[in-house]
Amino acid sequence: MKPAQIAQLLDEPACAHNAKEKSGCARPKPGATAGGCSFDGAQIALLPIADVAHIVHGPIACAGSSWDNRGTKTTGPTLFKIGMTTDLTEQDVIMGRGEMRLFHAIKQAIDDYRPAAVFVYLTCVTALVGDDMAAVCKAAQEHFGVPVIPVDAAGFYGTKNLGNRLAGEAMLEYVIGTREPDPVPQAAERPGIRVHDVSLIGEYNIAGEFFHVWPLFDELGLRILGTLSGDARFAEVQTLHRAEASMVVCAKALLNVARKVEARWGVPWFEGSFYGVRDMSQALREFARLLNDPDLAARTEALVAREEAKANAALAPWR
Ligand code: SF4
Repeated sequence: MKPAQIAQLLDEPACAHNAKEKSGCARPKPGATAGGCSFDGAQIALLPIADVAHIVHGPIACAGSSWDNRGTKTTGPTLFKIGMTTDLTEQDVIMGRGEMRLFHAIKQAIDDYRPAAVFVYLTCVTALVGDDMAAVCKAAQEHFGVPVIPVDAAGFYGTKNLGNRLAGEAMLEYVIGTREPDPVPQAAERPGIRVHDVSLIGEYNIAGEFFHVWPLFDELGLRILGTLSGDARFAEVQTLHRAEASMVVCAKALLNVARKVEARWGVPWFEGSFYGVRDMSQALREFARLLNDPDLAARTEALVAREEAKANAALAPWR
């Protein structure tokens, strides 16, 4: 990746912190946790896509220090739980074997696990020695007939937050918009309720937290077309361009995706949170507002009133 492309990504107009320096999030102060490198940020942003083989192209320590540190949960495939790396050694670097090892790693992942796609993450060493990861991924995709997506986010490019954005850029370049959604399944249809397709960006289903929110979406007739990336499948991420509205859940991470999906495909979005009753109510109301469906707005108000009453009753003994 060229320095000019990185500078462009750091200048994110949708970010509230973008006012002066155009350099992304502030650097950590002494004593604060530093977070990970860009590779770490890219991998944690995409690792929850559950049916993908995630291969870290570099020394084994890069994979070891970043793997599944969010504890995200899935309702289906667990392929993402298998740590995969090309495990480069000094000898591989000296002998120039990185690209060959990567091609064989992709082959092994496809042969052994039949993934929906393979994601390959660049790291410091493989970026510095100049491995052409994009060319290897392209060759492997043509050879094996499985999508092979390069995620160009070497650790030294910058912070973890920049890595989140770089992961989003990879999805925009290679994945989102490459497939149309399936029709709404009959089981999801209910008389008198129009089903709307929505998406969630920056929602990671950490420790399965989104499983508590999901039933509310179902009740309102909001079909979650896909998420980036909690409990996601590759085929769902391909269809995010067809959402009628989108919510950015972790605003620090993937604002660039929401903004560019709106620019390319006209999907409106808002920033919100599911933490706490007030934020939850606000998020559901925002969806109803963007979807401009009076029936949905009325159902949302009824649901919000019910959930707030339940929360108030539960909290009453401590007030
Ligand atoms: S900084 Fe570089 S070497 Fe360290 S974990 Fe990140 S990609 Fe790997």
